[in-house]
This record gives sequence, C-alpha cells and structure tokens, in this order.
Amino acid sequence: MNTAKEPTFAFGEGKISGYASIFLALLSFFAIFCFKFPELLTSPEFREVYTGESMKYLLAACIIASFFFAVLSFLLSQKKSWALIGILISVSSILLGGFTVEARSVNATQWHLGLDWLLLDLLLMALIFIPIEMVWPKKKEQSRFHPEWRTDLVYFVVSHLFIQFFGVIAQAPASLFFGWMGLSGLHNFVQSLPFALELFLAFFLTDFCQYWAHRFFHSHAYLWRFHSVHHSTQHMDWLAGSRTHFVDIFVTRASAFIPLYVFGFSPLVFNIYIVFMAIHAVLIHANTRINFGFLKYIFATPQYHHWHHCEDPKYYGKNFATIFPFIDKIFGTYYLPGNTWPEGTGLHEANYPKGYVKQLVYPFTKSPFDNDLKMEERARR
Ligand SMILES: [Zn+2]
Ligand SMILES: [Zn+2]
Repeated sequence: MNTAKEPTFAFGEGKISGYASIFLALLSFFAIFCFKFPELLTSPEFREVYTGESMKYLLAACIIASFFFAVLSFLLSQKKSWALIGILISVSSILLGGFTVEARSVNATQWHLGLDWLLLDLLLMALIFIPIEMVWPKKKEQSRFHPEWRTDLVYFVVSHLFIQFFGVIAQAPASLFFGWMGLSGLHNFVQSLPFALELFLAFFLTDFCQYWAHRFFHSHAYLWRFHSVHHSTQHMDWLAGSRTHFVDIFVTRASAFIPLYVFGFSPLVFNIYIVFMAIHAVLIHANTRINFGFLKYIFATPQYHHWHHCEDPKYYGKNFATIFPFIDKIFGTYYLPGNTWPEGTGLHEANYPKGYVKQLVYPFTKSPFDNDLKMEERARR
C-alpha cells in the first residue's frame, strides 16, 4: 500500500543518508553501554564470537559513518532535521566515551541481556537486507516504514534482548526428555562422520522437526491462534519474520534443538547451523524478487516462503519447511508455481490486535477468528 503517509525511498534525496545516520548513531549510543555494563548487557556465548578490541573499532567506525551520512544528508536534503538528529546522538556518544571506551574482562553473572547480540545482528541484517530490498524489491511500492514496522522491530528487540530466557527454555525439553540417555556413543559416531554428511544431517533433522512443529501449529485451532500472529503481516520484509509469538518461538526452537541435543553435532556444525538460520530465516521473509536460480529447488527462498504466507485460502497449508523444500514434497505440501508470486500476504479472516503487548496476551484468551473450528474446516490447515 502506498499512500502519502508511506513515502518510498529514492536515491539522491538525502533521506536514506539521513536515516542511515540516525540508525548508526543509535546503535553506537547503545553499544557504549555494552562496554560500560558488560555483565548485565552482553551474553557470554556471543562474547566468544568477537573480541572487545574489534568491537571498539566497530563502534568508532559506526560513529564516524554516522557523521559522514549526516553531512551527506545535510547537503542533499531540504530537510535538515535528520542530519541534526544523527549528529546530536553521535556527539552524545562521543561525550559518553564512544572513542575512548575500553573493553575489560567480564565477571560471570547469573542473568544478562543480549544487547550485544541485538545491536550486532540488527547492524548485520540491516547491512545485508536493506540494500537488497532497495535494489531488487519484490513489491516496489512497499515502504520500509509500513504501518506496522515498529511492532516488528519490538519483536526483533525482545527476542534478541531476552536471548538467555529464550535459549534456556528452548533447551529445556531436550534435556528433560533425553538427558537421562547415555548419548556420548552416538555423539562420537555423529562427529566422526564426513563433514558434509554431518552438516546435511544437522540441517535435515532440525528442519524435519520444525516442519512437523510448524504443521502442528497450523492444524490445531488453539495453537493456530499463536502462530497466526506470524501470518498476520501484510508487509513481508526482512523485519517481518521477527513477528512471532513467544509460544511459537519456544515450541519451534525447542523442536529444532531436540535433534541437535540428541545427535550431538560437532561445535563447527552447530555454529554453522546457528549462523545459517539467523540469516536464512530473515531472508525468506525479505521483500526481494531474487529467485536464486536452480537453488530455489534445493533451499527455501523468499518466493517459496511468501507462498506459505499467501492471503488466499486456496493456497493455505503449503511450504511448511524452513530449509529444504523436498520435505514438503515428501509430505505433499509443496507449492512453487514457476516464477509466480502470491498476490498478497496476511490473513483476511483474522482480526488481530495491533502492537506487541496486545498480540502477546490476546491468543491465550481469545481467538482472532470468528469461529476457531469453522476456520479449521475451511482452511484445512
Ligand atoms: Zn506458518
Ligand atoms: Zn514466515
């Protein structure tokens, strides 16, 4: 939907540079607190991925880039407020110690937030997907700032900030159900397999479990209330995939974690899986027409997953797999018609409240559909 309130972006207006300046300035501003309060605001698992020294340089680079974009916006645009806001936040960052802050050793604490994970993933995803969506958009008229982008951003922020909570509870069922088994023999066997086979097994088994968890969410009226939050988005883009109810995140992640736990893949395979999923889950929702040639028959692509989100009930119940389309082929839910894309995405028949908190509470007590059962029959999800 393109209205006067939802302007699209064009190069040379000073608007993209203005927003880039504000975005980088805000990331830098919050990053300083990660240096100041690392026990509280950074996650031990993620700290192993980077060094404090490299983060210091990244922080300085973001502040400098924010100034650069502010100047560019100032020169290009009639509207000077974007540049001024960017500069104001960046100056505050420097006053707080943006160029002088030092990384230090971190004491272990029981509880922490994942602000480091939030800021770095947001920066990385924005760097990858905003240019892709600008250069090769699927829906040209769709604005980056569509009416519900703030809600989607809140979902992104919450799921990253509370990574410890989501991680702990998602791992609980696996250790509860399988922890008593002696699995070290199986782990040794799996880790002795050829690398490519081990990698394929990890991807296949997690996707197989996620496929059935996902289908389960579609086929039970009560569970569908929770998963339908994810389907309520009419504006598919890289941020929209974050719109997932925490019950949905918990069950889906827990189901994927069970094979990882039982088979005990090597740390390298485990880490490749985590990185792949972090990028791939964002990619399949992105507003991009990139079709990936023959790869689209091997890996789920944006076109593939957009069909899963199709608003026309005729195409409900297709493409449940997250990684491998052949899993849908095996179970008769595959749908990928040439280069055709769905007309629209979202849920016509649902009345979902807007906003994170309302969407969090709502499905526990009420159905977004007039009649749960009728809905189930009609859609055969
Ligand atoms: Zn779904
Ligand atoms: Zn989705």
